[in-house]
Amino acid sequence: MPETVLSLDFDFARHEMVEDQIKRRGIHDRAVLSALLQVPRHLFVEPEFLHLAYTDSALPIKENQTISQPYIVALMTQSARLNANDRVLEIGTGSAYQAAVLAEIVKEVYSIEIIEALAHSAEDKLKNLGYKNVTVRHGDGYRGWPKKSPFDAILITAAAPKIPQLLIDQLKVGGRMVLPLRQTKSSQDLIVLTKLENGNLKEQFITAVVFVPMTGEVRR
Ligand code: SAH
Repeated sequence: MPETVLSLDFDFARHEMVEDQIKRRGIHDRAVLSALLQVPRHLFVEPEFLHLAYTDSALPIKENQTISQPYIVALMTQSARLNANDRVLEIGTGSAYQAAVLAEIVKEVYSIEIIEALAHSAEDKLKNLGYKNVTVRHGDGYRGWPKKSPFDAILITAAAPKIPQLLIDQLKVGGRMVLPLRQTKSSQDLIVLTKLENGNLKEQFITAVVFVPMTGEVRR
């Protein structure tokens, strides 16, 4: 019985989160709103932060990494301009929350995580929650997932020091890449790159964000 009460509280908190933090800040994509209402964020945070699961903040997860702020997840997802038939690549699985949000919206999600323990726990979590359209792989996302490419959209959920060209190569023409780029003193620029027919990239600035760094080959 107490468990039922608790889960109703979480449903209520999630609804409030979408109203107060997401809709009020101008996220209007119906698929994104519905995905944020669906995904039980409290199952993606560490037990000691359960009471903060639906608050307006990023939270620590294992291995010194973070689960992103719900609004930023919504904003990145909306900025990717997704369609139901899309195939999407995410770099930086982390808690798997963003991957689950994507999985609610598109046909296939591929997500790469460089820290092995996180990759394994993300995989287990998504499986237990019944997500069948997400595949998680442990590895460096720098080289992408050529076998599954090209993708309609690529989300990088860690701060890259430069645009990874190998990932651009795995984007369809018309495809969108959403990523935090260009480190300033305390933040990065969240941008959307659209791959044009002539191969050029159209860049659009979204907002300033704070992400953990993308590590691995991109730093070499
Ligand atoms: N999308 C996540 C946010 C995770 S934080 C969520 O919804 O919770 C960023 C993650 O990117 C970390 O887990 C970090 O280990 C991972 N990461 C950093 N560099 C990476 C790389 N080169 N390839 C794959 N994952 C990387």
